[in-house]
Amino acid sequence: CGIVGYIGIQTASEILLSGLEKLEYRGYDSAGLATVSDGKIRQIRAEGKLYNLRNKLANTEMSATLGIGHTRWATHGKPEERNAHPHLSSDGKVAVVQNGIIENYRELREELKSKGYEFKSDTDTEVIPHLIAEYLSQPDSEGILLRTSFSTETAEIGVRAVCSPSTFVEAVRQTVNRLTGAFAIAVISADFPNELIVARQQAPLSIGLGQGEFFCASDTPALVPYTQTVLSLENGELARLTYLGIEVYSFAGERLNKMPRILDVSP
Ligand code: GLU
Repeated sequence: CGIVGYIGIQTASEILLSGLEKLEYRGYDSAGLATVSDGKIRQIRAEGKLYNLRNKLANTEMSATLGIGHTRWATHGKPEERNAHPHLSSDGKVAVVQNGIIENYRELREELKSKGYEFKSDTDTEVIPHLIAEYLSQPDSEGILLRTSFSTETAEIGVRAVCSPSTFVEAVRQTVNRLTGAFAIAVISADFPNELIVARQQAPLSIGLGQGEFFCASDTPALVPYTQTVLSLENGELARLTYLGIEVYSFAGERLNKMPRILDVSP
């Protein structure tokens, strides 16, 4: 029921946990985190209150500076640890947190099962990491985000985006175009250790712009302790956050120009 994400210069797990605490008011039955470092995803999940997750985290070495977190309010699958987010792809390389409901998850689950993907949870969410892994495994698919444009008038070659078709943001873009329902997601990948991808469709998601660091969260109270400069994603938009900046795209693949706003935090 709450999403947080962090990419920057500090230890991600601590910031993610305190962000989740700020979102506790939204209600939840379980929680979890995933980070990426040394080419690996590390995942910790716990049923019940956030202090259960905090206790588990105390016994784990998590020094990564990139990660995602989630508090879950179960809609599909019992509130058990194996259904808690983040959910991983079968190869353990893609981790996803999601708010909301994927309405067409049954069809997608059948399609992915027929391609050999194994499901470990009863959630609607788990189709997402598998779909992203599937699109990442299709390097020949022509991704919209690769296209370059050449203007004869200005003689400028404009690369519409810095990505190739097999890139992470393109795989997530293709995936969100397959999903119906109301959702917000945050995604990391072991193979793309400098990127945090977020997408929004009928569920809130804001990005916080700090100094040398970026945050994302379902609601601004989780951002306010770190920054008041906020970019709100609209429905049908996805963003690629790297250590150096943010790019926003429509689900159709157009690069969008967005302006941040300053939150009014006066009492
Ligand atoms: N539908 C997802 C699940 O049941 C996400 C629920 C939520 O928003 O927390 O796991």
